[in-house]
Amino acid sequence: MKEQKNILTDTFKRKHTYLRISLTERCNLRCTYCMPAEGVPLSPKSHIMTFEEIYTIAKTFVSHGVTKIRLTGGEPFVRKDASVILSKLASLPVEIALTTNGITIDRYITLLKENNILNINVSLDTLIQSKFKEITRRDKFDKVYSNILLLVENGFNVKINAVLMKDFNDDEIIDFIELTKDLPISFRFIEFMPFDGNKWDMKKMVSYAEVMQKVKANFSEEKIVRLQDAENDTSKNYKIKGYSGSFAIISSVTNPFCDSCNRLRLTADGKLKNCLFSNTESDILTTYRDGKSIEPIIQKAVLGKYKVRGGMDTLEKLQEPKLHLQNRSMITIGG
Ligand code: SAM
Ligand code: SF4
Repeated sequence: MKEQKNILTDTFKRKHTYLRISLTERCNLRCTYCMPAEGVPLSPKSHIMTFEEIYTIAKTFVSHGVTKIRLTGGEPFVRKDASVILSKLASLPVEIALTTNGITIDRYITLLKENNILNINVSLDTLIQSKFKEITRRDKFDKVYSNILLLVENGFNVKINAVLMKDFNDDEIIDFIELTKDLPISFRFIEFMPFDGNKWDMKKMVSYAEVMQKVKANFSEEKIVRLQDAENDTSKNYKIKGYSGSFAIISSVTNPFCDSCNRLRLTADGKLKNCLFSNTESDILTTYRDGKSIEPIIQKAVLGKYKVRGGMDTLEKLQEPKLHLQNRSMITIGG
């Protein structure tokens, strides 16, 4: 009998073992690179997955080979039932990780530990309070910074995500790396990516090459250690000799990591995106609510995945507003 192909393997033989689930489109910050100033039109509550739906859909993915689920948003902790969702998903045979802006995570330390959710990514784009307010449109720097320290004290594996933008925070690259001297964190520099309404301009982006130029101008060659990247890692990892932590660069724009991509994304309203840059989506939730099997929809979405960056395989295409403006704002995709 002909063996049935795994529904999570695409036409380029990439196996999708990593699912990112957005729990909500809402957020308690308003980061300029993530959402337009006027906000985003929110889906009615009835269109957002309930915790039972999240659990059942996630279980289907796990049964087909997903081994890691990352919860994101919007801000995952603005959902009132975040604790229930975390505990339910933690009962599945899968690694659970979280991406958060860190504002309220101090309330969840015990719950996270109890459920063995130890890998936490926190977004922080500057170490200067006034700049934090400018970029997030909210005055929460102290809270986020003290919560990062709290996570480290409590033994979590903490990664900090900073989106680099020219003339905003590119002058802080070395200060960010200096944080890793005493803190056992990984500081990750993310190239600024285009989404609907974030006024993307290639000139604002700080590339992998530019980050490394600054690093090399500041540290001698023998102090900069290239670390082994984990399998399917989207980042290139380094450390400064003698420092407790490390740093990394996520170069989705100048150096995409599509060849080894193992990710799928489920939006809070139950749409499957086969790529962060893709402007098409597959409606899993409606199919599920209609009582039909979601597996054929998942397989079709996986088989439709482009080789590179949702079909934008050159930087010229990425700079074509027509192509990326049909994509949602990052806040409604889930980073
Ligand atoms: N609210 C949570 C947070 O900020 O970590 C989770 C959701 S947020 C959309 C997930 C990640 O997407 C964050 O690390 C954020 O920095 C990143 N992000 C948002 N907009 C981006 C953009 N235009 N380019 C690159 N990364 C972006
Ligand atoms: Fe909210 Fe995260 Fe987007 Fe900032 S990056 S607006 S914290 S979802």
